[in-house]
Amino acid sequence: MTDEILSDQEMVRYCRQILLPSCDIDGQEKLKQARVLVIGVGGLGCAAAQYLGAGGLGRLTLVDFDKVELSNLQRQILHTTANIGDNKALSGQQSLQAINPEIEVVAITRKMAGEELAQECLAHDVVVDCCDNLETRTLLNQLCFNTKTPLVSGAAIRMEGMVSCFDYSDDAPCYQCFSQLFGEQQLSCMEAGVLSPAVGIIGSIQAAEVIKIISGIGRPLIGRILLADIATMSFREMKLSKSAQCKVCS
Ligand SMILES: [Zn+2]
Repeated sequence: MTDEILSDQEMVRYCRQILLPSCDIDGQEKLKQARVLVIGVGGLGCAAAQYLGAGGLGRLTLVDFDKVELSNLQRQILHTTANIGDNKALSGQQSLQAINPEIEVVAITRKMAGEELAQECLAHDVVVDCCDNLETRTLLNQLCFNTKTPLVSGAAIRMEGMVSCFDYSDDAPCYQCFSQLFGEQQLSCMEAGVLSPAVGIIGSIQAAEVIKIISGIGRPLIGRILLADIATMSFREMKLSKSAQCKVCS
């Protein structure tokens, strides 16, 4: 039965992952059948999408209306010098299809309004927040809460980063519970700078969390915030509880 889902070529392509007892053929099949929405094809999105695509996520939808600039190339690894001026979702799609022609990659190049974005959240199994602004983060959290679509959220700036997952189950916190507790820095990489591999580390962790959620491997960062300090290379974890005052989930 299993060979109907994964071809012989795919069995070879993904064999190192299938070898993991916790993944196995079942896990790889779940990845192939999954749909993941990546919001933002910048530093985080390039790293996350690259591992998701190479790792065999069946359908990736990349969303970005921005164009590739020279100053992006230090950290946005799906885009090349030849892509300067191209739309980031299209450039990302092109790179991912070259890495893995077995998967389907869809590019959305326009800015989506709430209702359209809600429909996209509903049509996907997991949403990966790789955006660079609070407005989009807050909107995505609300839409994922409404549609009960798991959200993997990541942020990186300077030499710091964070990752957390939200599944919107009854007792689980949401992104708003986090941001209202600790505040949100409004700085962008344009103002504060960012170390090239910092976005790679955080985006790769986001990809790992997506794969874990879809295939049922391990224990995702639900109710936990992972904080990374790249300068000292130390990682710590904070517990996050549902807030009774949260305007989204309570
Ligand atoms: Zn909340």
